[in-house]
Parts: sequence; structure tokens; C-alpha cells
Amino acid sequence: MYSTKHKSVIKIIALDLEGTLIASANNPVPRPGLYQFLQWCKKNFKQVVIYTCVDEPIFRSIANKLVINEAVPSWFREIKYVEWDGMIKDLYNIDGIEPEQAIIVDDMEIFISENQKSQWIEIKTFDFPYPEDDNEFIRVANAIREKF
Ligand SMILES: [Mg+2]
Repeated sequence: MYSTKHKSVIKIIALDLEGTLIASANNPVPRPGLYQFLQWCKKNFKQVVIYTCVDEPIFRSIANKLVINEAVPSWFREIKYVEWDGMIKDLYNIDGIEPEQAIIVDDMEIFISENQKSQWIEIKTFDFPYPEDDNEFIRVANAIREKF
């Protein structure tokens, strides 16, 4: 389903939560293919981090439920949570790397730093009516492989 080989400087993939991996914190419907996409990320990047507007305790609670429901791999419980100011998802906030070593998958352009748009992979917002034939994760994985 996914290509597994890609050689690049990219070390980290940062993932938005709401509208990207799940519908919303209040209604955490997993996007179709979430489990497989996360495993693909784990296999192809040195680190996978979560970069979300949702407060960490709420995120951890959602992550725990997703693990219990087997919607995500168990390592998702311990995923690194990026601290930020809630305005711009600046890739400088990710420890130990330069922005050009990271990519961010997010449905909202307004959170992306103007000078880091080259590192942004846009994903269509996942929301009601939660289409079961959504294949954005496959499109995104292919886009990452082609671009980086
Ligand atoms: Mg979002």
C-alpha cells in the first residue's frame, strides 16, 4: 500500500490531531487508515511527534482511548507532544532538529509558519460525515515520498 523507502534529510514527522488524525477532540473519530499511517510514519522517520492545539492531558486521554480501541498502535500513547504558544506551529519548537529536517502534516494552513511552508504537507480536513472511503493518508504518504 505504501512505499517504504525514502532517503532524505527529513528526520521527524509532526502530526496535527484534529481534522488530520481524528475528527475532533470532542468527537475523536479516527480517520480511515489511521493505524497503518502511523506505522508507516514510525517506519520511515526517526521520530513521530504530535503538534496539536489540544492540551496535553486531553490529548493523552484521547490517545489512550484510541489505543484501547485498537485505532492506533500502542506507542501512540507515549508519542512526543510538542509544546508551543498556540499561534504558529513553528518547527523550531521541535527539540534537536532544524526546521528543514521536519515535515508537518496539518489540515490548517493558518498554523504554518510562512517561511516553513515548504515543510508542510496539507491534508484535507477529516470531519462529519466521516467518509469511510477517505484515502488522504495514502495520498499524503505518496506526496511525502515524491517531495522529500
Ligand atoms: Mg487540524
